[in-house]
Order: sequence, then C-alpha cells, then structure tokens
Amino acid sequence: MVGDVAVGGAAPVSVQSMTTTKTADVDGTLAQIYALAAAGCDIVRCTCNELEAAEGLAQIVPRSPVPIVADIHHQYRMALAALEAGVQCLRLNPGNIRKPEHIKAVAAECRDRGVPIRIGVNGGSLDERLYEKYGGRVTPEAMVESAQMELAYFAEVGFEDVKISVKASNVPLMIEAYRQLAEVTDHPLHLGVTEAGPLPGGLLKATAGIATLLAEGIGDTIRYSLTADPVEEAKAGRQLLEAMGLRERKSIDLIACPSCGRAEVDVIAIAQQAQAAFGEREIPLQVAVMGCVVNGPGEARDADLGIAAGAKRGHLFVRGTNVAVVPEDGMVDALVDWAEFIMEHGIERALERSDIHAAKSAAEADRGALFERKGADVNASGQRIETIRKLGG
Ligand code: SF4
Repeated sequence: MVGDVAVGGAAPVSVQSMTTTKTADVDGTLAQIYALAAAGCDIVRCTCNELEAAEGLAQIVPRSPVPIVADIHHQYRMALAALEAGVQCLRLNPGNIRKPEHIKAVAAECRDRGVPIRIGVNGGSLDERLYEKYGGRVTPEAMVESAQMELAYFAEVGFEDVKISVKASNVPLMIEAYRQLAEVTDHPLHLGVTEAGPLPGGLLKATAGIATLLAEGIGDTIRYSLTADPVEEAKAGRQLLEAMGLRERKSIDLIACPSCGRAEVDVIAIAQQAQAAFGEREIPLQVAVMGCVVNGPGEARDADLGIAAGAKRGHLFVRGTNVAVVPEDGMVDALVDWAEFIMEHGIERALERSDIHAAKSAAEADRGALFERKGADVNASGQRIETIRKLGG
C-alpha cells in the first residue's frame, strides 16, 4: 500500500508522476499535485533533496489528494526527514546511497513506521562496482543485481515492503531488465523508460517499453518520464492503461478514420474539434468521427456514437444505426449533445428518440450520391494499373 493506493497483486495498475516545482514551494507543489490527480494520477512523487523540501513535505502530505512518495538521491538523512514529514513511500536510488549502514538505517525506520520503499535502479546512475563487474556497460543483469543487493540489505533488518524499478533510457535494455527482474522477484514492479525526452518521441519510447511489458503481464504501477508538463505524463499513463483495458475508462475514447480520397470533410480538423469539445469531461463513451458515409457507419459500428460526413451534412449513428442528420458545421455540437443524452438516458432511449427511418434514407441517398461522384475506386487505382500494364507492353 502506498497510502490508500494498493500496488501489486490484483490491484489495478496505478499511474504515477513527479512534480517539477521546488518542494519547498508548498502552494506551487500542491497546485501541481491537484492538477496531476485531476488528470488521472494515483500517486505523486516529490523530490526531497534538502531540508526545506522535507519541511515542505510536512505541509504538503496532509493536504494532498493522493499519496506522496519522497524521492531521495544522495543523502540518507533526507529519507529520515521525509519519513518524519509523513510521506507514504520513499524512493531510494541504490546507485546513490551506497553505505550499507545508511541503507539499513532507512529500511529499519520504514519497517517501524510501516512505510514502503521503491528501489529505483537507474541505468544512468548504476553503482560503479556493478558497472565495472559487467564490463563497463549497463546491462540488464547489472541492473537486476543492483536491485537484489538492495533487497539483501533490507532483508538484514527484516524489511520487505518493497517495489522495484529498473529504468533505462534505452528501450530494449529496459524491457530486458524488467523481464529478468520479473523472473527473480515477486515484488511489485514500477515501470518506466527514464529520460524518454520531449513529445512526441518521448511518448513513443515510453509507450514502447511500458506497453510491451504490461502486455506480458509485467508491471504494477507506471510512470511516463517526459520532458513536458507532468500533467502530460499523467494523461499518457491513464490513456495507455485505458487503451489496454487495464483501467476503467473515465473520459471519451475518440476514434477517427485516417481519411482518404473519399472523405467529404477535413477529418483531422473535425476530430481535433471533437477532442477539444469533449476535453477532460467524464464521458466514458467511444465516439467515432468518420470521413464519409460510404464506409464510416459500418467501420465504426461498435462505437457508442459516431458521425460520418455526407454531402455537406453529417450522419449521426448510435451503435451503427443512423439516428439523425445535422448540418456540416454542427457535427461536433451534435456529437456532444448526443453523448450527453446517452450518458443521462442510455443507448436505448437515444435510439427511441430518433427518426431512424428518415436518418437511414438520408444516409443512403448521400451514400449513393457519393458513389456516383467518386465511384467505387476513389483513388483511381484501376486506371493507374491499366496505364502501368500498357507501359509494360
Ligand atoms: S471512413 Fe470513408 S473517408 Fe474515412 S478512411 Fe474510410 S472510406 Fe476513407
């Protein structure tokens, strides 16, 4: 348990992030913690790098909506100070606090207070001795051994309330390290690709590492380490877990076709407008934006609600059934209206309130017109193939 958040076992995978404010700035840090919690973050880490930070934590922890982890790097005394401040978890980097008596003093204090520790191995700050032992390189084996050495110190004082991370900025290295770690320990694992970098590349790297492991059943809590507003980290973590079916959906799942030569509207613009209109609202429906009425309603028939463009108008559909026709510039507003209606009254009532017959006829008329205008082969592939064949003699 990190405060009231269970980590590991059958508990849902949790989302973590870290504040970027000075922890001594109590109001600034709390504002960021609240923003992170609103974006779906379950646990927040704050650095505890100086006494002023520990003093800040003493005021932050009782006012925080989520449990707080204190990040400790070099000074074991900061770990003791953070515990005194009431934090719900510590993160120790075994590469930075190396003296066994210091490690054991912190573990014994955590044992007495019932506070867990994350052993946070980092490929970039590995214990020198391990670095040399493994040929001057950071290897998965070296990272796993670092975690095991720390566990052994903890065991000496009878402490094992631990979760572990073996992060690296290199994705294949990080994946292999976690796989090896999962083989040798049953402790909950905290996943992350460290220093993943700015958007959008950082998102891709972090997702590649975290999602691969989650799909293998490895990982209990995750953090995206992005060079961006930490709220982006929380959103990304939350969205990944929702997309993988590991957390219940809280907000809209907007799907949209990639658009093609048949599109009757600017799908990218409409999808972005819809995304902005729904924002962070708690409407856990799947909503589709499709570029044409020829294929749109069929391809998105599993969506709760969707819109497909026809000739200067939009065809709304609910679970694949056409329910209404709206002007092109009212497509996004209509989506929001219908989504709100479904949230309040359910899918069945939404279908009952519509003139399905009229909506279906209108969609069919536009579908026919579109076929007539653009044909079945909108990208003119047939014509091109004919020409290519002629070139070949
Ligand atoms: S829904 Fe229509 S516009 Fe969108 S990709 Fe499919 S065929 Fe093209």
